[in-house]
Amino acid sequence: MEAVSDLLNEVIHEGIDSIAPVGGGSINNTYKVKTSRKVYFVKVNRNVPEDFFEKEAEGLSLLAKTNRIRIPEIIFIGRNLLVMEFIERGLESKNYWFKLGQKLSDIHKVTASSFGLDYNNYIGSLEQLNGWYSNWPEFFVERRIFPLAHRAYADGRLERRGVELIEQLSKKINDLLVHEKPSLLHGDLWSGNVMVDLSEAPVFVDPAVYYGNREIEIAFTTLFGGFDPLFYESYQEAFPLEKNFDKRIDLYNLYPLLVHANLFGGSYSNSVMTILRRFA
Ligand code: ADP
Repeated sequence: MEAVSDLLNEVIHEGIDSIAPVGGGSINNTYKVKTSRKVYFVKVNRNVPEDFFEKEAEGLSLLAKTNRIRIPEIIFIGRNLLVMEFIERGLESKNYWFKLGQKLSDIHKVTASSFGLDYNNYIGSLEQLNGWYSNWPEFFVERRIFPLAHRAYADGRLERRGVELIEQLSKKINDLLVHEKPSLLHGDLWSGNVMVDLSEAPVFVDPAVYYGNREIEIAFTTLFGGFDPLFYESYQEAFPLEKNFDKRIDLYNLYPLLVHANLFGGSYSNSVMTILRRFA
């Protein structure tokens, strides 16, 4: 903990009262830091690419600029740390889930003319490729599942057949996915990356933003669970999904599953293969 306080002393000049570790993250060391003036949330990681926290902060500020959902205020962006406002957690009431569905639909109504983003960013600790595409299915294959399948294969975390099946899938992907306007996405929306504050408002953290088809975001929320049915009801009421969305959920979840296959291999790689055999 001493090393963390050394790092912090360089950026917080107000006398630190306490530093306590916070659990729940998967990549970084996270701390609640109290000073006489404020409470901060601090993420520290000494083994990340140079622009890792800069990209996280850029994603947060892109979401903040929409003025459609609460985002923690960024205080300091460093090479190995990110300092932001600490969000005190409230209770997840029915009202919260209802608001989350509405807020997410508000964000998804922010659109761009193409799919992607100006710059690459990160999902967990993996690089997420962007750039701009006019065609969503092509973006999904070329910038999402294909590069991660290759990487997993190169690292021995996916069998060669997996890469072949994605090549096969890419030939019919245009007919499998629907065509909608590109929506602004959180990009890594599992239950650990959305919080409730003391006024029961949802707060987004740790995004992997880009403009994509919003179906990939809703699909992802179903993968590890934790989202109340009321969230889906309110989203659907505010911004109905195209028909047969349910049939595309597993196809979309190839992306987060490939992220996990790259990071952890094992059962995630098996799930990837099962889905690929079904769709390719
Ligand atoms: P990691 O990048 O390591 O996954 P996260 O950004 O997801 O870390 O943060 C880990 C956990 O800390 C989150 O699941 C959330 O519960 C909590 N958290 C994130 N941001 C804040 C914040 N600004 N204030 C308070 N708690 C936070």
